[in-house]
Amino acid sequence: MPIIFSAITPHSPILVPSIGKENLSRLKATESAMEKLEEDLRAGDPDTILVISPHGLIQQDAFTINLNPEFEANFKEFGDFTTKLRFNGDVGLAYKIRESLETKAPLQLISEPNLDYGSSIPLSLLTKKLPDVKIIPLHYCGLDLQAHFKFGQLLKREFMVSKNKVAVIASGDLSHKLSKDAPAGYSPKGKKFDKKIVDYLTKRKTAELLEIDRQLIAEAGECGLKSIVILLGILDGMNYEPKMLSYEAPFGVGYLVMNFKI
Ligand SMILES: [Zn+2]
Repeated sequence: MPIIFSAITPHSPILVPSIGKENLSRLKATESAMEKLEEDLRAGDPDTILVISPHGLIQQDAFTINLNPEFEANFKEFGDFTTKLRFNGDVGLAYKIRESLETKAPLQLISEPNLDYGSSIPLSLLTKKLPDVKIIPLHYCGLDLQAHFKFGQLLKREFMVSKNKVAVIASGDLSHKLSKDAPAGYSPKGKKFDKKIVDYLTKRKTAELLEIDRQLIAEAGECGLKSIVILLGILDGMNYEPKMLSYEAPFGVGYLVMNFKI
């Protein structure tokens, strides 16, 4: 089956109304962009969502796929003690990916019932009306950008031969250093990095994006780049149209919502 949906989303807890409360009004553009994405995802009627997260188990030299049959998530760490989310895992497809990629890419399987917030926040916003969708949580790793791009290309082949309709969510925030009150402190490199990423993505300059200066990446204090690069590997060779739905940074962290129409 072709891939029916692919997007970049932020994972700010503030986007969850019970956590963000009055601060959510400062993320209006992101909020309505996520609503648009939600509609688009629902229209695609996915069987399986691959969600790529920067948080959770990040290993130095192996990608991590979580194939637990069921997942739970809560937002206690953000002061919301009532929300409880449940998702079903796509164990079958996760196993198939492992089988075919075993000799081609460094990949480790884990069984961890608790979802990290990098996965659960976009899923909570985008799958409200998709109670039966299955998920495969994936974590990127310490290897370089090229390895992530290649891994995406390998994943794509598996999705194309699968009978499932697959959606891909690359979860990640851009620079955490965009203002004086930013969580990681201010660096002028933050803005430079975010501009470059948005520019390369909208112009489909993937080769340039893979060559972004390592020093610039390090100084930007981002968490989303490798999620994005895996997504670009998956989209490689396909005819897609990047559509930026929103970019804003009211809290000094760059939040990008981009839909890749295939
Ligand atoms: Zn993050």
